[in-house]
Amino acid sequence: MSKAGPGLDKMPKQENGQREDSLIQNDLSESFEEEVRAFLGDEEKLHLFDDLTKVNPVTTRTVLKCLQARYRVNLFYTNAGCSLVALNPFQPFSCLYSPELMREYHAALCPQDLKPHIFAVAEQTYRNVQKQMDPVNQSIIVSGESGAGKTWTSRCLMKFYASVAASAISPKGNETVERIEKRVLDSNPVMEAFEWHHSDCSVSATGNFTGNACTLRNNNSSRFGKYIQLQLDRFHHLTGASIQTFLLEKTRVAYQAPNERNFHIFYQITKGATAEERLEWNLPEGAEYRWLPNSERNLDEDCFEVTRGAMFHLGIGPATQSNIFKECAGAGLFQAAGRLRGAALGEAVLKNSLVAFQVLSGLLHLGNVQFSNPGDESQPCELEDKTKEFVKSTGDLLQIPTEELLESLRIRTITAGKQQQVFKKPCSRAECETRRDCLAKVIYARLFEWLVLVINENIYTDPSVWTSFIGLLDVYGFEAFPENNLEQLCINYANEKLQQHFVAHYLKAQQEEYAAEGLQWSFINYQDNQNCLDLIEGNPLSIFSLLNEECRLNRASNTDLFQTRIEKALSSNQCLSRDKFSKKPNFIISHYAGKVCYQLAAMVEKNKDAVPPELVHVLQKSKDPLLQKLFPVTEKNQNNTKTQNRAAVVTVVSKFKSSLEHLMEILSRTTPHYIRCIKPNADCKAMTFRREEVLSQLQACGIVEAISISAAGFPVRIPFQSFTERYKLLRKSWGSSKKRVWSKSSSHPAEKKGKFLQCFIPGDDKAPRAAVLEILQDAVRGQ
Ligand code: ATP
Ligand code: MG
Repeated sequence: MSKAGPGLDKMPKQENGQREDSLIQNDLSESFEEEVRAFLGDEEKLHLFDDLTKVNPVTTRTVLKCLQARYRVNLFYTNAGCSLVALNPFQPFSCLYSPELMREYHAALCPQDLKPHIFAVAEQTYRNVQKQMDPVNQSIIVSGESGAGKTWTSRCLMKFYASVAASAISPKGNETVERIEKRVLDSNPVMEAFEWHHSDCSVSATGNFTGNACTLRNNNSSRFGKYIQLQLDRFHHLTGASIQTFLLEKTRVAYQAPNERNFHIFYQITKGATAEERLEWNLPEGAEYRWLPNSERNLDEDCFEVTRGAMFHLGIGPATQSNIFKECAGAGLFQAAGRLRGAALGEAVLKNSLVAFQVLSGLLHLGNVQFSNPGDESQPCELEDKTKEFVKSTGDLLQIPTEELLESLRIRTITAGKQQQVFKKPCSRAECETRRDCLAKVIYARLFEWLVLVINENIYTDPSVWTSFIGLLDVYGFEAFPENNLEQLCINYANEKLQQHFVAHYLKAQQEEYAAEGLQWSFINYQDNQNCLDLIEGNPLSIFSLLNEECRLNRASNTDLFQTRIEKALSSNQCLSRDKFSKKPNFIISHYAGKVCYQLAAMVEKNKDAVPPELVHVLQKSKDPLLQKLFPVTEKNQNNTKTQNRAAVVTVVSKFKSSLEHLMEILSRTTPHYIRCIKPNADCKAMTFRREEVLSQLQACGIVEAISISAAGFPVRIPFQSFTERYKLLRKSWGSSKKRVWSKSSSHPAEKKGKFLQCFIPGDDKAPRAAVLEILQDAVRGQ
């Protein structure tokens, strides 16, 4: 064994067939530097490895070392086979995203020969469309943990396409193209709100709308996943786009973890509303709202104007903008959005004279409503005087009669008996609070959905116009917190699905590469994560099916019993275990990226995501046109608890599973490209690289898995030239070539003992091949 310790293919395998790399857990000792040096040679040159598969051998240590060396010299992008690793500098480097650089990658004969960059990926993807590659549609999957730079990357990619695809057809600045490009780009600010500084072409987050919030991990964290499809016509020009979103974290409206904030839009309206708007929305200066913590912190993202601006830009030229601005100044953004198109959508929006900001202000008032226990339990919960005011203002802003609003929050309607008698029962204080929060969440979630719809209708083009697309997926990475629940289960399930997709694609790419080199090889013996996916989503029994069963039966929640049920039903799956030392009911899933312990408390309730019918009913009575649109009277669950209970419950996991399946379906029909964003330190400090943190992300984003696969195949890839140079003592060297020798051993070739027996020689380049072959034969003979 070499000084560098065991190669990956010598490591013990985990039960589920994945490799166990002790380095992942802890082994970043001092000897690390020394060991890596022994393998990689000259420290000064480490940054030159622009493709991690060229590192020899490919191990987590060597990969990590190279990434660090590159980071030190401002090389933030590194290829890793069919993925690009993107390290976040946490510091703007405008030259890295300049229009000149875009043009350079766009004009390059072979963009992959330039330095690794997201523009190289973007250009390659675009060329695949132009070449009508099979499949012609492309997807770029951007993943990484919170704050790693996914949204930044997606924006840069969009900007690239907006400029490249538009310039291709619009050398003279065609107005139509300009509008489409701008509209597509402006869909982003509305959902996430950011601004492109066209002068230096860098991007900075300067505002936010409904989907982003300040969290402990990222000041501008996207609290939803999204897939943007950039639609291209037969001349490969950008004609439009569509957006699909996933799993908005709506709980944030009514609950913000310590030191975190609510969605940016609330801060924007409270800080940026005009005097008239303040009056109209009942937002006096200096008022305090429980659901608006940490508002004393002023962030760039608090800028209301950016959101307004982006909304106004959606589909409108500068000439008409000022008009609309004037007309709509007091009437709310959504009216403006409607006017932007003036077409079917615009009219629909206008007709309803939507006033979203008023509704959002209503939610802030709702948050200040508090209940106290009544002296007599048969009576509804009490309200303090101040709270009464807030109920009234909420009712006014949501255009719901105050009394009815109050009743929906405090009284439950039960239908029972053969006669279907209706009983009214006062809710406990905790139930009232849950109802209040639920009201806010359901309004916010539907508002968000509606906004996505508006944007889609603004940027969408008819399928007869576009012939191909490039999809950009910006999804939350693998999550493992001290406490994990349904949200993490869904997120990690999505990551398992993407990982499976990646592995399948990676293996295919490897096979194609081997075939191109004329290698004889046996199938890489690699077990995928199907077992884990079966545990989560399989039929007939899985965590999802059991969760749904609990919701369907509507049993009183008993998490201990549920834990036993899970264990009994799924004990044969090796990916399932439990933290036996924890007092809280839980289950552990062995994901490809590591083990995660999920708490069962409240999981079934979260999955049900039930909205008390009284709340829907009261919302349906609203006179506000937006709420009328969001809660149409046709909905079935009007005030009938029993009907709702018996009906097939559409749970969170079933909704998420089906939207993810739809996404996977789309992805499977595209040629995928992967960008793995890495956050080099948890504190978001500029130019700070912490090895332990990077390593755990390399593992979580699947790069370590890719390395494992690589090690299971032919991890050592020596260019003919280097090989003959190194061993010319054994035979004199013949010429040079870029072709590589592939070795099935992961040990360094300098360790002669018997290793060359397993080498494979590529076939088509006769002279260097013969040289290498002779050297190898001699080495074998010499033993
Ligand atoms: P989340 O999952 O929380 O939404 P994310 O992966 O989308 O996180 P971003 O919001 O894209 O993360 O990035 C976080 C911050 O990192 C950005 O606001 C920006 O300040 C910085 N950043 C990201 N990428 C770059 C880059 N290439 N150059 C400079 N700064 C960057
Ligand atoms: Mg983001």
